[in-house]
Amino acid sequence: MANKPIGWDGKSLKDMLIESERLIEDTGKYYGTELLSLKEENPFRYERAYASLRGALVSARETALHIAASPIVKEIGELCFALYTPEGDSLVVSTGILVHVHTMSEAIKFMIKENYEEDPGINSGEIFLNNDPECGNVHTTDVQTIIPIFYDDELIGWAGGVTHQIDTGGITPGHDLVAAIQRFDDGVYYTCRKIGSNDKIWKDHMINARRSVRTPLYWELDEKCRLAGDLMIRDALLEFIKEEGITYYKKFIREAIEEGRRILQKRVKERLIPGRYRAAAFFDLPLKEEAWQPRAKVNKITNEPLEIIVEEDGTLDLDFEGCSGPGPNPMNCGKGAMEGGQWVLLTQVLIYGDKVNDGAYFGVKKNYPLGSWCNPGDPYLSYQSPWGNLIPAYTGMMKCISYGLFSRGYREEVVPGYGFTGDAIQGGGIYSSGPLKGERWALSTFEISGQGLGASAVKDGLDWGYAMWNPESDLGDVETWELFQGGVPYLARKVKPNTAGHGKYRGGANYAGVAMVANSEDVDFFGARDGLAFHGAGGMHGGFPHATGYRLIAKNTNMKEIIDNQKEYPIGDDDPSNGDFERLLEADIIRKPWSSIYPVMLENYDLVYFPESGGPGYGDPLERDLKSVKEDLDKGIYTKDIIYNAYGVNANYSEEQEEWIIDTEATQRRREEIRNERKEKSMSFEEFWNYEKSKITEGKLSDQVKLMFSESITLSQKWRKLFIDFWKLPEDFHMEVD
Ligand code: MN
Repeated sequence: MANKPIGWDGKSLKDMLIESERLIEDTGKYYGTELLSLKEENPFRYERAYASLRGALVSARETALHIAASPIVKEIGELCFALYTPEGDSLVVSTGILVHVHTMSEAIKFMIKENYEEDPGINSGEIFLNNDPECGNVHTTDVQTIIPIFYDDELIGWAGGVTHQIDTGGITPGHDLVAAIQRFDDGVYYTCRKIGSNDKIWKDHMINARRSVRTPLYWELDEKCRLAGDLMIRDALLEFIKEEGITYYKKFIREAIEEGRRILQKRVKERLIPGRYRAAAFFDLPLKEEAWQPRAKVNKITNEPLEIIVEEDGTLDLDFEGCSGPGPNPMNCGKGAMEGGQWVLLTQVLIYGDKVNDGAYFGVKKNYPLGSWCNPGDPYLSYQSPWGNLIPAYTGMMKCISYGLFSRGYREEVVPGYGFTGDAIQGGGIYSSGPLKGERWALSTFEISGQGLGASAVKDGLDWGYAMWNPESDLGDVETWELFQGGVPYLARKVKPNTAGHGKYRGGANYAGVAMVANSEDVDFFGARDGLAFHGAGGMHGGFPHATGYRLIAKNTNMKEIIDNQKEYPIGDDDPSNGDFERLLEADIIRKPWSSIYPVMLENYDLVYFPESGGPGYGDPLERDLKSVKEDLDKGIYTKDIIYNAYGVNANYSEEQEEWIIDTEATQRRREEIRNERKEKSMSFEEFWNYEKSKITEGKLSDQVKLMFSESITLSQKWRKLFIDFWKLPEDFHMEVD
């Protein structure tokens, strides 16, 4: 090696990483740490040390987002920071979008394994940029700035910050690009690139970056925001070492991560019961008629089965065996994406509080089968929007954990899933007049952070307030979104009836918006959400999944005339079978029963309607108390027909009293009637099994379901055996695909 090694005690970083991996492998404990000696000797000093680092990260985040950040980062805090060990294991994290804590860990390990220490070199004051999902990221839209931190001549850690961009220069404007089907559509790739030295971003990098995306101003602001936060963390760490000493720090980081691992195990033992938990989840993409590219013209359902083994010692073992294959779509997931989704959910349901760090990562075993959508092993695929598969797939984890929580008696902690944080509106265009004439704008409306959460076993789900990938979700102010999506002002935002999954406790409900294209040209518009099938693992203990999404667009409208004459225009789509769009507009109205669409071109005065997702329900809707049903009606959460059909409640609106009145006697009769209907319609398990089996043996499954099962049984021998055994199929069974 040409240069002096930068690791500890004359070692290279690579040596340190190998040693750390060997120690966890041999002992099962982080860095082979047996005793939390610092904690035992002086718990106050130890806890104060952890709290001071955590405080430094939280304050770095708060400060950075206020000195420089794009609206999306500033408005809903779509960023987070973390401090890592020399080997790239996170020690302490800020608040914010915790998805990215382990992702940056993978990026640091990538640089170490690729021997960056020798070439291109890792020196104090240098800056690295990464957004490659193949080496520790979720998608190209998430951009990470990582700096090494030195004390004397040794690298003692790394600071990393990540933000979600409005545009990354992909095949179409926007941030989760439905039309991307290969790496070359995903936008600009920075694969762990050195972009600066002496604490300054190089000019040539910034020139290149600005020209690589459609919204250069926001890109640059966010680069400054991430670097500012990283530098504040570095200062805080050096201050910490001045206070506590380098010897204390070096020991402290090992023990604090090992404690993080033990906390996870303790929580698992406390909250779950050992055993095997299984859940099934799906995501469908009806892109056969949408896709431009011939190879992408396929209707695909992704199989996302999950098995979790809870071991007696508190280890969690996650196995995605049986997942179907990747596809010519942007929803493929690399390891970074799988870890990110898992991490952020575990911090919400099991490892909240105390030490949140990579200790928990080491406490969970996982299998992402090679060749499946969750580990395709092919860097040339598109990884632009892995959330499409991640969001439904991890409802399986929530459901498995919920079974455990329920069994232990933590009924209020049960969460049988969540709404799909699909895109409200996506795309972009060019301002056609005004001070920004000729500038490009892009849609990255993060009101998708406000979805319905699933019901628990004791109460309804949270309305319009949850995103699985950001525990601090906030749907933001319309005015802020309009600031950067200047070409699409809002006409309305209001409660959308019938989005919440039915149940004794209903899922969280949601709202919908109406936006109009204005002051723009060359507008591309697209979107992604669930298709015709319910996403994810649905409800629990008799609760229903929430409604799937749909698309409603009005082109060639008479909105100019309506505005000029101050006439009524649609502000919602409460009853799609008798739509206000059709009633109030002269326009070409497009309705599709699914949400994922390829870009269409829109013109000024065209309208788009975008309903957001509800959450799944819990328990039998016939057991829902009538006071809650009345509230649902008064708030517009459900309509009268749904209340009658799903909840068995007979209610009428009183114009006089301006509220809903429930007829309790008629309700009792209606509920009895539904119970009798259920008895008549229901079949024995044997009848059901025979009926479902006949679909397989008589080729009655839909094309996309056949394709899904054929991929699963080809990719996994283990899952093939489960499938064949369960359905009692011949050993040489083979799924015929048309
Ligand atoms: Mn992102």
